Amino acid sequence: MKASLLIIYTGGTIGMVEDPVDSTLKPFDFSQILSEVPELAKFAVRIDSHTFDPLIDSSDVEPALWVSLAELIRDRYDDYDGFVILHGTDTMAYSASALSFMLDGLTKPVIFTGSQLPIGKPRTDGKENLVSAVEIAAAQDAGGHAMVPEVAICFDASLLRGNRATKISAEDFHAFSSPDWPDLAEAGINIRYNRPAIRYPSTWEPHLKVQTHLDTRVSILKVHPGMTPQVVRNILCGPETRAVILETYGSGNALSKPWFLDIVREADRMGKILVNVTQCKSGTVNMDLYATGNALKQAGVVSGADATTEAALAKLFCLMGMSDNNPWVKETFGKDLRGEISK
Ligand code: ASP
Repeated sequence: MKASLLIIYTGGTIGMVEDPVDSTLKPFDFSQILSEVPELAKFAVRIDSHTFDPLIDSSDVEPALWVSLAELIRDRYDDYDGFVILHGTDTMAYSASALSFMLDGLTKPVIFTGSQLPIGKPRTDGKENLVSAVEIAAAQDAGGHAMVPEVAICFDASLLRGNRATKISAEDFHAFSSPDWPDLAEAGINIRYNRPAIRYPSTWEPHLKVQTHLDTRVSILKVHPGMTPQVVRNILCGPETRAVILETYGSGNALSKPWFLDIVREADRMGKILVNVTQCKSGTVNMDLYATGNALKQAGVVSGADATTEAALAKLFCLMGMSDNNPWVKETFGKDLRGEISK
């Protein structure tokens, strides 16, 4: 039987065309995308599409779009073997991270893709990305189970776990990387699946649960030389903030000045959720390595291990949306929920 896929088009460069008046890139409709990629007809796959209205540059993505995507996948889950989401690259890693946490019990592929050059341009990377994403989303093993039952990003011949990916280039075709987790697949002459790196469900029985309530009261503080107590206090102790992601140096270090640690302790006493991710491109937080990192741990900061900032943000939105209990959120944040951290 033919595999069936739903391609969900949200916008992004892949479907943009140059406006003749001001030369900026603006989205065009899905049928034009399909007509640019006749190769898709060669797959033994039934493809349906769903187009969001309005189509957006992904810089305009808000959590409401993630909720719409998650609900659409939930509502059409039984009708398709997999889902391909066309999305702008700027916030693709955030959206893929969010969907990975919002979709619990996933047994089918949800593959994000997009491109650096619009699909109508002669040197576009959009065709190859879309064709590979479709092939991967439709791929099943001999038992009829999805090869990649995960939320993933397919870009420049690599398939990356969505909540491990980060955008690394504004102009190279190799725009995404997954520094702390191996690629799930590589598209060469054949698609080579890296099965040990792929996360398989404990059961193939359909039991998709969708978390659509997100609490977005999170801020991010990138630690840097020259921070002032006023700015740090505003971010960590602000009344509207429930959680703060500290993007720290190296293996989870920040300044050891008493004023800084006093503010961290004050935020902890206020019940804020403080988490630690590294601002390095790869590697993990280890708050037992240096006295500066350990001081954060003693002050109540939880380790984000090797989570990307995008994954940490999405995980907090989801966990905080599930519960008002901050100690539970802190404890659960430290657990590996969707392969987003190494243990
Ligand atoms: N600004 C675009 C977007 O994220 C960039 C892209 O798609 O590559 O929608």
